[in-house]
Order: sequence, then C-alpha cells, then structure tokens
Amino acid sequence: MIDSIIKNEFVIKYFILLFMWIEFLWELYLSYRQYHVVLITKEVPKKLKGVLSQDTFKKAKDYSVAKLEFSFIKDIFGIVFSTLIIYYDVLAIFWDYSLQINSSEAGEVSTSCIWILILSVLTTIIDLPFTIYYTFVLEEKFGFNKQTVGFFVWDKIKAFIVSQCLTLMISSIVIVIIKNGGDYFFVWLWAAVCTISLILMTVYPAVIAPMFDKYTPLPEGELRTQIEDLATQLKFPLTELYVVEGSKRSAHSNAYFYGFFKHKRIVLYDTLLKKEDGTGCDNDEILGILSHELGHWSFNHVLKNLVVIQVNLFLLFAVFSTMFKSPKIYQVAGFYKSQPVLIGLYVVLMYIMTPYNALLSFLSTCMSRRFEFQADDFAVQLKRGAPLQSALIQLNKDNLSFPVYDNWYSAYNHSHPPILERLAVIEENMKKAK
Ligand SMILES: [Zn+2]
Repeated sequence: MIDSIIKNEFVIKYFILLFMWIEFLWELYLSYRQYHVVLITKEVPKKLKGVLSQDTFKKAKDYSVAKLEFSFIKDIFGIVFSTLIIYYDVLAIFWDYSLQINSSEAGEVSTSCIWILILSVLTTIIDLPFTIYYTFVLEEKFGFNKQTVGFFVWDKIKAFIVSQCLTLMISSIVIVIIKNGGDYFFVWLWAAVCTISLILMTVYPAVIAPMFDKYTPLPEGELRTQIEDLATQLKFPLTELYVVEGSKRSAHSNAYFYGFFKHKRIVLYDTLLKKEDGTGCDNDEILGILSHELGHWSFNHVLKNLVVIQVNLFLLFAVFSTMFKSPKIYQVAGFYKSQPVLIGLYVVLMYIMTPYNALLSFLSTCMSRRFEFQADDFAVQLKRGAPLQSALIQLNKDNLSFPVYDNWYSAYNHSHPPILERLAVIEENMKKAK
C-alpha cells in the first residue's frame, strides 16, 4: 500500500526525522517553560507555608533545576543520536555484522537475536555515563543516592541479563508467528503478546522483583492490624503485606498493590515508614496513602489500563500487517537486500507511528490523572482525606519535589497531578462530603 503512495523511501525517512524533531522541540520548549517557572518562583506557595520551610524549598528548587538541566543535555544527546542512527542506516550496518557472526545459516531468528544483543550492549554502554552521573553525582548531592558502587554494578548486570533473556525470548516468538501465522498473523501475534504480558505481570513481582530488592513481611503490630482492618472493611482480598527495602537504592518513597483476583499483595517502601530523622509517614498518613491505592483497585484502574494497552497493541499489529510486506519499510532503515520482520516491526512501531505514539501517550497521561483524582476522592469518602493530604505534603518534603509547575508542562508530562492541585481538590471534596 505504502509503495503506491510514496515512490521514494527517502521521503518517508525525512518525514520520520521531521516528526521526531517536532516532538523533541515541543518537549524541549515545555521543559524550558518549567525551568523558567522554577527559576522565578522565590517564595513557598501559600498552601505550603508553615509545612515547608524556606530552607527545604530552596533545596527542592536547586534539585529541580539540576534535574531539568540534566535532562536538557540527555535529551539533546538522545535526539542527535537517534538522527544519526536513522540517517546513516546504523540498524542495517549492525544487521550485516550479525549476519557475519551468525555463519551457521541458521536463519532469521538467530540473526535477529544477535542483532538485538549487539544493539542492547551498545545502548547500555552509551547510556552508562548518564546513569552514573545521575546516580552518583546528582542524586548523591541531594542525599538521595543510597547505592554503593558494588550494588550499582551488580544491579546493572542482573538487570541486563534478565531483560535480555526476556527480550530475546519474546522477539523469537514474535518472529516465528509473523513468518508462519498466515494472513491473520496479527491476531495470533496479539494473542501471544497479550498472554506473555499477563504471565509477566504475575511472575514479575513474585520472581523477578525479589532478585533485585529484599521483600519482608510487615511485622505484626499496630500498623499491620490497621492495614488489615482497612482491607477487611473494603473487602480487599489482601493475602500478603510486604515492606521492600527500597532504601538500599534510593531515599524516594512509594507504595503499591498487585496481584490478580483473590490474591492481592500490598507493598510499602521502607522509606515510607516513619524514621527517627523525621522523614516518612505516621500510621494515619500511611493508611491515607493506602486508601488512595485501594481506590485504584475499587475503580478497576489496573484493568482499565490493561484494556487500553491491549486494544492499542492490537491496532498497532493490525497496522503493521498492512505495511510489512512493503520493501519501502525496510529501505527506510537501509535494508535493501533482505526484509527481516523484526526490522519491519521496529520501523513501523517506533518510527512510522511516532505521531500516533505521542498522541496516545498524551491521552493516557490525561486518563491517568483522572484516575489519580478518583483515587484521592475514594480516600476522602473513607474519611481519610486529611491524613492523605498531610502524607502528600510529607512525601513532597522527603522527596524534595518542587511544588510549583507550569500548566502546559504539567499537562503534557505528569501522570500524577501536581501536589497543590491535589491538595485543593481533596479539600473541596472533603467540604462536599461533610
Ligand atoms: Zn495513585
């Protein structure tokens, strides 16, 4: 189809580059707006006066400036790098290397796996200076880095091995299905990927996550009893309650639940618990946060997200099926002699769909923000609005989040509404609920 519309693969190539740069410049502009807001905001916002000291506020400001400057440099590097990859047909060059290594004529699956490995090793190495700087310079400076060099190295090696095993396994299945699935291969492809993602969602928290962090059951005591009571009150099928030792990694805090059907587990970061230095939340505040999390459960937000992701995946595969036989798709990436299906999939999903992906990501950010407000309101209905508010303030303080945002930047980037907006809406809902 594409062949009859566009005669020259370079036209497609330049369009892809154009869209990539438009998206990049747009995001750069938004980040610049936020950068400006951070720089000109000199006073603690009215709502946080008395809870956020001028000193903490100043530190949050410096932290935010440092992070924004870091991402300016990283993003500029990223777009130049991606442009060079497309412009100089780097993917095709590495494909030729993979073919040479794979002398056994064993076929497309093994060549694709070698190609993925080469690219993963290279991108990991190129990314490493940024990760090291972010962890050991930036986060370190503001007291958030808790990783030792040994932990960092071992963590990265483990992560690389696990992610490569999964990527190679999934890619092999994908290639086999595309090549042997017949005219309606995209239906099989979708069914397979959907099944694999459901399996991974089950296996990840139970098998993979414990390889990286230590999970211990929350000890018996007041907090545990209170959480269990809350679960019983809401008929939440709580089977296990863990504390994860996130403090080995970083001082940022969080809580979440996971699990299918009747086997739900709640995980609290140890950084969330009250500590002697005054960081962390008290029991009431933790229950406020968990009420919010259970709001996500009560409104079926996880399932709704999953449906959106799966419908989107089906659409993407269907679009791919209409394009993947066109030689132009492969020529865009410099493949003139062969048409490996994995390359076709990559070009269609990552390059051609760039505008669609950007739009979809914006819409899902909007949806996620809606879900956050619903979950906050759920906590309000449970009469836990006030502790949730003070928990949000405490976490904002502990994480040194800068509380003031540019509206456009926030609308485009934040899956969670900014703290001041959340506090105001909770306040309003609490008045209504009275
Ligand atoms: Zn939430």
